Amino acid sequence: MVAARESKAASGTAQQVDVAVVGAGFAGLYLLHRLRKSGLTAIALEEAGDVGGTWYWNRYPGARCDIQTIDYSYTFDPELENAWTWSEKYATQPEILRYLGFVADRYDLRRDIRFNTKVTEAKWDEATERWQLTTSSGTPVSCRHYIMATGCLSAPKPPEIDGVKDFEGKVYFTGRWPHDGVDLAGKRVAVIGTGSSAIQSIPLIAEQAAHLTVFQRTPNFALPAHNGPSPSDRMDIFQSDRAAYREQARQSMTGVPYPQQTVVSWQLSDAERRERFERAWAAGDLVHILTQLWADQAVDIDGNKIVQDLIREKIRAAVNDPETAAALTPHDHPFGAKRPCLDTNYYATYNRPNVTLVNLRQEPIKAITASGITTAKRSVDVDVIVFATGFDAMTGAIRAVHPITGRGGKSLTDVWAQGPQTYLGLTVEGFPNFFMITGPGSPSVLSNMAVSIEQHVDWVVDRIAALRDAGFTTIEPTETAQAGWGRHMTDCSMVTLHRLANTWYTGANVPGKVQGLMPYTGGVGPYRSICDEVTARGMLGFKLT
Ligand code: FAD
Repeated sequence: MVAARESKAASGTAQQVDVAVVGAGFAGLYLLHRLRKSGLTAIALEEAGDVGGTWYWNRYPGARCDIQTIDYSYTFDPELENAWTWSEKYATQPEILRYLGFVADRYDLRRDIRFNTKVTEAKWDEATERWQLTTSSGTPVSCRHYIMATGCLSAPKPPEIDGVKDFEGKVYFTGRWPHDGVDLAGKRVAVIGTGSSAIQSIPLIAEQAAHLTVFQRTPNFALPAHNGPSPSDRMDIFQSDRAAYREQARQSMTGVPYPQQTVVSWQLSDAERRERFERAWAAGDLVHILTQLWADQAVDIDGNKIVQDLIREKIRAAVNDPETAAALTPHDHPFGAKRPCLDTNYYATYNRPNVTLVNLRQEPIKAITASGITTAKRSVDVDVIVFATGFDAMTGAIRAVHPITGRGGKSLTDVWAQGPQTYLGLTVEGFPNFFMITGPGSPSVLSNMAVSIEQHVDWVVDRIAALRDAGFTTIEPTETAQAGWGRHMTDCSMVTLHRLANTWYTGANVPGKVQGLMPYTGGVGPYRSICDEVTARGMLGFKLT
């Protein structure tokens, strides 16, 4: 192994490496480890001050994973698995960040990560067949391969409301929460947004604040987390054969080892359906309720409506005020077509006397003023505004590096003007030796991302090493292969209900963003088989030079 630092500045001032990775979250860390093991020189460039990615930035109260932590972990090294024990079923942000720091230390990764360094531009140099990366600080980087491990949910969406600058109180973003915390005791607080981060933080903010006003545009389905120790039934299966458990996850639809359901809703009686639903509700497991009720719940609107109605019943039972309960109840999307959230006292929080829900569908925000928020019907004075308004998902962080210039001076922004086009969600035609981890076109956000990330990283690193070993210098998908992947994505999406919802999966949350379902809906296991088949058939759909 050659340390990246040793090969610095062979030509001009640029740092020369085989591979430059952008990002040091779950994906970037594993990439660095795998690249080194493959004998490639590599560096990671990270805007943040330390490792962790999502778990470095999202420090808001209540931040946790929503996939059980025994599943949301690296699996590449059994000894790592033995060396770490999660304390809870859904670990908190500090614990996940500690875990990623532990991984960085264990494999001595930090020495090849340049922190506080943002990649601002990337250009393919046809003469040298290398990427030239411009950075916000320090020397530029010249690399044979350029891998964006920049995250799907890492570019916070700016507020769309006028007057934020006029507000005289404090403003916080859940995705950029201050590291030393925020004291909200006795404060009048507004939370704007009711997505996953809001649903996690609202109960804790309500406990501290003098008064909390929640501004909701679109309600989400939230399911009880029932957090605590990892459930013994799952732990027993895991402990009895860890390798088999992990393999089942890799071959599953979502990256969590549940079997494929075969019984459809109409084969079950009302009582049987309710019994299945109550069992899933009590389990407090997102993936269980998303996949294990009946086989048609995610593909047929009638099978899905039964689940929707059962959840709506739960919301009505949890929230005392019928008008508030009605406002909190989703009606605009099938269950699962938008990522559901995990609820720890979320609905119950609206029964507190110090919490008010403002339904923006009935009274849109007009402006943010010096003292608070004005809607079509009222003015609410607050000391603090928390924006929990989500992310420019999947493409936001990629497009923020601007321009990314490929062959013939083509910019990725132009190539993606009508929406992202990729082959396998990993590569783009016209951009040789360019890879994305969990990019648009991969299963990513529809899965346990730890499993998807490991699969993407293994496939990409293995391909780069094989390319080198075979004496090639470039790899790039063909136009035909990319068009074919686009068609396959569309075909897959036609059999799910995702197409019926306007969500961050489709870009609907970002004004002006081209609409279209970005993740691959064909499932984690089938996607893995396709990637493996591409390799087995001599890099089907790729040009190598
Ligand atoms: P990230 O963790 O997002 O890391 C990307 C890194 O790239 C960031 O550190 C960023 O600073 C850096 N970066 C981006 N652009 C640049 C640039 N131009 N220059 C330099 N650095 C750059 N997924 C699940 O599967 N289960 C969960 O339970 C779950 N919970 C989540 C909870 C929250 C609050 C959020 C926001 C996401 C959650 N996710 C979850 C998704 C989560 O993003 C992924 O699971 C995973 O952490 C992504 O890892 P990553 O390395 O791909 O990206």
